[in-house]
Amino acid sequence: MKNIMFIAPPAAGKGTQAELVVEKYGIPHISTGDILREISKEDSEIGKYVQETLASGQLVKDEITYQLIEDRLKREDCKNGYIIDGFPRNIEQAHEYDKILAKLGYDIGHVIYINIDKKTLEKRITGRRICENCNTIYNINDPKNSPQVESVCDNCGGKLYQRSDDNLEAFETRYAMYQEKTEPIIHHYREKNVLVEVDGNDTVENIFSKIDKIVRQ
Ligand code: AMP
Repeated sequence: MKNIMFIAPPAAGKGTQAELVVEKYGIPHISTGDILREISKEDSEIGKYVQETLASGQLVKDEITYQLIEDRLKREDCKNGYIIDGFPRNIEQAHEYDKILAKLGYDIGHVIYINIDKKTLEKRITGRRICENCNTIYNINDPKNSPQVESVCDNCGGKLYQRSDDNLEAFETRYAMYQEKTEPIIHHYREKNVLVEVDGNDTVENIFSKIDKIVRQ
């Protein structure tokens, strides 16, 4: 199976789509955001730095992400394909990722760009809730994606929480960061002829069906 990369603005539903791909194809989902959220819980200098950076909506230092990505991709479970989400986030990281792929002998695979309106994202950002136990993502502003019992995960009964950066103020910073830093990598992958665009202004199911078609190619 080919590797998959998701590029999308914050709250576009990358995490939800990645979970659906994992469920169907059983490949690992490597999210730098998830890994960094784990690091932010550590009682250490780096834990504190990551926690503050995440809450502000800024990007953490490139060097921190390089090491954690390379270490994660080297693991056995990535040999038959993986989904990478949240990395690369700027053009420097895209060049570094090219080098990491060459070093590990991996192909870039499918680069899937989920294109979505800012207005839709603003609506989603305040409703997102995540299970602290199994990471299932809900949206309380969308009846179809709400949990059956308020604040409780349908899958495992875990408690739902709201990300510290899921507020409109941090969203503005994250969105501006996305436009400034991440959008240039879309051109990078378009030039390499590996980019496929998916319209994200649609239901979770319809977006997944479009992604699934690409993945099966
Ligand atoms: P995400 O879960 O992908 O929305 O990421 C949440 C936050 O983690 C971002 O706003 C950044 O602060 C940080 N982050 C995630 N991926 C990266 C990356 N590749 N480079 C730098 N910071 C990142």
